[in-house]
Amino acid sequence: MPCDPVNKFLPDSRNRGSEAHAPNYALPTGFHRLIPTRSVMSELDRILATELEAWAASDLTRTLHAVDPVGSRHLKHAGGTCLNFASNDYLGLTRNPGVCQAAAQAAQELGSGSGASRLVSGSLAIHHRLEEGLADWMGTPRALIFGSGYAAALGVIPALVGPKDVVILDKSVHACCVDGAHLSGARLRVCRHNDLDQLEDHLRWARRHVSSSDGGRILVVTESVFSMGGDLAPLEAVVDLKERHGAWLLVDEAHALGLFGESGTGRIRQLGLEKRVEIQMGTLGKSLASSGGFVAGSTILVDYLIHRARSFMFSTAPTPAASAAALEALAVIRSFEGQTLRKAVWDHAHRICTALRTGTTPDSAILPVILGAAAEAVAAARRLREQGLWVPAIRYPTVPRDQARLRITVTAGHTHEDIDRLVKAITPLAARIQQANPAASES
Ligand SMILES: *Cc1c(COP(=O)(O)O)cnc(C)c1O
Repeated sequence: MPCDPVNKFLPDSRNRGSEAHAPNYALPTGFHRLIPTRSVMSELDRILATELEAWAASDLTRTLHAVDPVGSRHLKHAGGTCLNFASNDYLGLTRNPGVCQAAAQAAQELGSGSGASRLVSGSLAIHHRLEEGLADWMGTPRALIFGSGYAAALGVIPALVGPKDVVILDKSVHACCVDGAHLSGARLRVCRHNDLDQLEDHLRWARRHVSSSDGGRILVVTESVFSMGGDLAPLEAVVDLKERHGAWLLVDEAHALGLFGESGTGRIRQLGLEKRVEIQMGTLGKSLASSGGFVAGSTILVDYLIHRARSFMFSTAPTPAASAAALEALAVIRSFEGQTLRKAVWDHAHRICTALRTGTTPDSAILPVILGAAAEAVAAARRLREQGLWVPAIRYPTVPRDQARLRITVTAGHTHEDIDRLVKAITPLAARIQQANPAASES
């Protein structure tokens, strides 16, 4: 029987008939009519269960494994202890005593939460210090922090473009940029991964369809290190193209921060492009060992975002502990210790490529093993877990349906012995690493 879901939640006399299904624990008289009756719940559950079953049939069921980190490289879970090859804490700084101390001290001195959005009373000195540090590091006049990298993308893209504009996305950009682009209402064009010819075609198309007399804008969005492939965007060429066609560029540096450039600045600054990329974006949740996200760019860009990025304006400011941890992690990343940690990560990535004779050098700390079918990736991840190695299976919708994979990440916390154990376990799958990274092996 079709039902009107709204009415079912109202204290309407028409719903009295279903009170028999109301929860049988004691409620104040009349109150239970405000609680959804079981028939409503089961209607919702029935619909959702059908979808869950369809995902299960395609090997796309997600499970939240409850784990406890033990030191910087192990995870304890129900089945035992595993070496963790799934973390984006590339430099191992979530376990750095100074970083943890900074977080603890900030919580002690400033409180556990920031109490309001930045525009109300939540703009704490620690946030401003972090933003100054990030801007200095990225080589931009200003930076603005958000509650997460995801929130940064959802705030910045709709702030800059709207229905009169065009957004051109690389096919492999992170979901947050896809969602930000959809939310903006702009017309979207998706480029094949790292395909510069198609990018130029889309830029030409956009120029024909965007009326600059009308203030129409074109925004290109890409990632400096791709999160699921571990490969690199040809940033110089992308910058040249967007300049030639009068577009703006947003580059997400989530997986490059801490690992590329003289002091871990990411690839934009490593390539000397910081004055030519309008919007640099990053997360504080990976190498920066905390949580949060940020945008770096001009003073006017940041002032504009303070007025227009809704995920900034209408969200509680990051906690003092999170910002203090990120600020301390940034200091470590820029120090000699940071250099040593970076070198350890790259050594591990090289060690894996050499041992597996992939014939390539690693592009990043992310080494995908593309297996194709979701079931195969899930089975491979389970086998590795049984051997004490935690390597995640990445499936649709995170990657295309036929490109399910294992995604290995190495961190400074790993030892050579850890890497050798991993190599031994994945050698049977080794031939596939090369296929995972065609862009790299062609260049
Ligand atoms: C992790 C990630 C994000 C999101 O950052 P969070 O701070 O985790 O929300 C954005 N972009 C890319 C490429 C990422 O890998």
